[in-house]
Amino acid sequence: MIIVMTERATEEQIAAVAAFLDRLGFPAQRSTGARRTVLGVLGPTSGLDDRILRTMAGVAEVVRISEPWRLAGRADHPGNTVVDLGDGVLIGGEEIVLMAGPCAVEDEGALEQVAAAVRAAGARVLRGGAWKPRTSPYSFQGLGEPALRLLKRAAERHGLKVVTEVMHPADIPLVCEVADLIQVGARNMQNFSLLKDLARARRPVLLKRGPAATLEEWLLAAEYLLMGGNPSVVLCERGIRSFDGSSRNTLDLGIVPAVKQLSHLPVIVDPSHGTGVRDRVAPMAAAAIAAGADGVLIEVHHSPAEARSDGAQSITPEQFAELAGRIRLIAAAVGRTAEPEAAAVRRGRFARG
Ligand code: PEP
Ligand code: MN
Repeated sequence: MIIVMTERATEEQIAAVAAFLDRLGFPAQRSTGARRTVLGVLGPTSGLDDRILRTMAGVAEVVRISEPWRLAGRADHPGNTVVDLGDGVLIGGEEIVLMAGPCAVEDEGALEQVAAAVRAAGARVLRGGAWKPRTSPYSFQGLGEPALRLLKRAAERHGLKVVTEVMHPADIPLVCEVADLIQVGARNMQNFSLLKDLARARRPVLLKRGPAATLEEWLLAAEYLLMGGNPSVVLCERGIRSFDGSSRNTLDLGIVPAVKQLSHLPVIVDPSHGTGVRDRVAPMAAAAIAAGADGVLIEVHHSPAEARSDGAQSITPEQFAELAGRIRLIAAAVGRTAEPEAAAVRRGRFARG
């Protein structure tokens, strides 16, 4: 970190800043030029509050020279992280992973129907909420614990992995019994108690981007999980708040290459919440893969008009199958594959050398 003093900074002001840094355990090196003095602090300064330094008399500017996300960043980890859900389902490798299912688990028959259909279309992971973060307390809140059992049964029957959201830290052990990937919903991205508890869970975490979170806030939320000891973090862009009411959220696909450049963590995209409009889901899912996403999370319902939550953005199993076909073509065009078998064969070949 570099602290640039103003041209008029007095010796007392410079000494006060240096003493402040010293007291906090960040001894500074001083360089005095013809007009200005700068103080440089080398080494890890993530714990140093640059905002307070800016308020000190005589300080013109504070410049961070290293990124605050040590563990999520590429500086110490240039290769890509591949998150392993088991049974050959790898997120962040060559394979584009399709995750699909209803917004909320509603009943066994419906879940069974959707699980069978999305599996047949090439999905590897079944989604479905047990506890739903609804804006209105009068809306369907999810079936709770019974939904977890239904998810597990449907996923086992069809050879799928499970992604489901945990809202309350107390539910983590229960969710761990069922989920291969635990979802942190957008509204909980900065629920730091939840993140700290999930950091200790021995399960991969899907960290959705908050509806108004900056890239920095998102990566620092991931840093909580990594720092607490959970290396298996998948990021998920799901749309952010914007001024435009023509869609539910504004899907920020530009953040995919931006995050990929800064972080080694896999990134997937949820075009269902990202647009909120059924007809926009397939085009934006396709665009996400073209932009470098490692997978997509799609809401699929056997009868969207009757869905108890997010019917407007849910696509039918038939539409999902069509979309999966389109994704296979785009994956191939960008040097990836959305065909699990092809990826497994190639992995085997590489492993045998
Ligand atoms: C969901 O996946 O159903 C969900 C509630 O997502 P988000 O947290 O992105 O709104
Ligand atoms: Mn939903």
